[in-house]
Amino acid sequence: MTDLRALSAIELADRLASREVSAKEVCETFLSALERDDHNCLIAVRKEEALAEAAAVDRARTSGEKLPRTAGLPLVIKDNMVMRGKLPTTCGSKILANFRSPYDAHVVERLRQAGMIVLGKANMDEFAMGSSSENSAFGPVRGPVDRERVAGGSSGGSASAVALKLTPLALGSDTGGSIRQPAAFCGIAGLKPTYGRVSRYGLVAFGSSLDQIGPLARTVKDAALLLGVIAGHDRRDSTSAEVPVPDYLAALEGDLKGLKVGLPAEYFPAALEGPVRKVVEERIENLRKLGAETVEIHLPHTEYAIAAYYIIATAEASANLARFDGVRYGHRSSRQGDLLEMYRTSRSEGFGPEVKRRIMLGTYVLSSGYYDAYYLKAQKVRTLITRDFTEAFKKVDVILTPTTPTPAFKLGSLVDDPVSMYLQDIFTVTINLAGVPAISVPAGTVDGLPVGVQLIGRHFDEPAILKTAARLEGGVNG
Ligand code: GLN
Repeated sequence: MTDLRALSAIELADRLASREVSAKEVCETFLSALERDDHNCLIAVRKEEALAEAAAVDRARTSGEKLPRTAGLPLVIKDNMVMRGKLPTTCGSKILANFRSPYDAHVVERLRQAGMIVLGKANMDEFAMGSSSENSAFGPVRGPVDRERVAGGSSGGSASAVALKLTPLALGSDTGGSIRQPAAFCGIAGLKPTYGRVSRYGLVAFGSSLDQIGPLARTVKDAALLLGVIAGHDRRDSTSAEVPVPDYLAALEGDLKGLKVGLPAEYFPAALEGPVRKVVEERIENLRKLGAETVEIHLPHTEYAIAAYYIIATAEASANLARFDGVRYGHRSSRQGDLLEMYRTSRSEGFGPEVKRRIMLGTYVLSSGYYDAYYLKAQKVRTLITRDFTEAFKKVDVILTPTTPTPAFKLGSLVDDPVSMYLQDIFTVTINLAGVPAISVPAGTVDGLPVGVQLIGRHFDEPAILKTAARLEGGVNG
């Protein structure tokens, strides 16, 4: 008997379409794997509703209805995307532990239209703030390769679940690296689309000028399939772009002859660990063998990116999180007091330490007297970083970098050192500041731990990075 968990999403879709397997069988297989999970990947499993939806897909298929290619495919979604039904949308926070959404996020509507089945809500850093999924009110996610190491974050539950074959696919969100970094740590593919490519209607906002939803999958092809489901215009998100959605699967065909790949010197600093550099360089060599041309380039403002990102992201977070006041959403303190006291105690009890740190930082950089010195300056740096990419893309078609400076670190090793934790994001935050798309694909391993390579593209040129990533992946596996 075939091990359904070992199949790719595309293979599963083909078997579902030919009725070799039923949606119910597939759904039951993954649900039981999720129920046995001991890596804390999920906050909640969506059992009855998922099984009922699978049964509906099976009935439609048996009656000869024409269904989308993805009908019956299961997945998990990060718990910052709202979904109607029995399960709460927690954002990994105590403050939303009992929040049930009255509506579906745009991506959830798209999944439903595609006949896909949400199996559960994935664990994450609280409000997507973190790089290790240790800032979750529901406990840390464990890494799929080494349980004593982090899965990365903030979409760590999504990434670990995909790597452990508890689900063929997952959705994550990426504000400064939260899809790509956990994908790299878990040895899978993760794509942050262009800003505006996927609607954020129903994604709980963290840094609104940076946030994007994207796919996590074990193969690039599966990521392309899921991107095709969620991409496209939605008028309820004013930043959603009216740019036609190409056929991402078709984009995977074709070779890399003549493709110009930029290697930014700033992403290969002398301090980059030797073994990580070696793994990435092997992939660069692969690309050359496949006919791509590599060009050394410069993204000169990279060194200011972490500072600018942690000012802009926290400023936006402090504004976005003001809505959690104990009145409209979530936890309300039972302590007695006046209205202000109620806001204060509800927020103090509901938010975890990292979220509080970010709200304070963000409020500080926006306060009068400091606005020009920090926030305005960070916005100027952002313009320069964006310009670096515009200039680079005049010379090259895609840019290649390591996704992270190191493989997954030990659980607990950075939680008490926020600045070191922030520095983990050195290679990923620039991409969100510039709004360009990027994918992380497995590049190899260092001491058995996965390392990722990041491919960055021009705005809306997901096809170029997907095609390059698919060839790279072949180099690792074949
Ligand atoms: N690690 C980064 C942060 O903590 C990015 C998080 C994200 O992309 N959601 O802000």
